Amino acid sequence: MSIQSNLNTIKATLPEHVTLVAVSKTKPVSDLMQAYEAGQRIFGENKIQEMTEKWEQMPKDIQWHMIGHVQSNKVKFMAPYVTLIHGVDSLKLLQEINKQALKNNRIIDCLLQIYIAEEESKFGLDEKELNELLTSVEFKELKNIRILGLMGMATFTEDQNQIKKEFTHLKSIFDSIQKLQFVDLKTISMGMSGDYQLAIECGSTIVRIGSSIFGGR
Ligand SMILES: *Cc1c(COP(=O)(O)O)cnc(C)c1O
Repeated sequence: MSIQSNLNTIKATLPEHVTLVAVSKTKPVSDLMQAYEAGQRIFGENKIQEMTEKWEQMPKDIQWHMIGHVQSNKVKFMAPYVTLIHGVDSLKLLQEINKQALKNNRIIDCLLQIYIAEEESKFGLDEKELNELLTSVEFKELKNIRILGLMGMATFTEDQNQIKKEFTHLKSIFDSIQKLQFVDLKTISMGMSGDYQLAIECGSTIVRIGSSIFGGR
């Protein structure tokens, strides 16, 4: 199957309110251009250097989403152009993003990553840490970032019930933040190639799909 037909097949299954991020990490620009020519304009990368190299080479109407774990000292490289940073998991990182956004005279949209998996290796905040962050004085001072929503990654497992439980947990945290009105959350980024349909059933509005579009890595 070609990249174009993979993309069209997936897009045909997505409800209108769900945004597709084509996860292009490790793939060459020629593969991304095939997706671009098929109409895709949102790409997700997990390494800042690789994303920046692709941004330099590719058309400027592309929206670049950083989906990986972000190191503070590299934020400056993507601050001029990044559209959405999915994996923000600390106040310190938000402060650095705010600082670099200010330098670039822009507001950078972010998602806060929530820890929902049963794997030690995954990053993210728990509900208590999220509440603390959103109600802190330091957070309220940040004028050059905007929190658009939450992001999560389920455990890497075949167990659909487990995954569903984790996605539902993220949705319930989202709903309780909405009720408390700390910030006006608009979106939930959850779901990858193997679990995006389940994620959408559980309330996802952004899916991050790589291998089902571009093939295995
Ligand atoms: C790689 C990656 C994806 C895409 O995974 P696929 O299984 O290839 O669809 C989604 N989200 C994050 C955070 C990733 O690192």
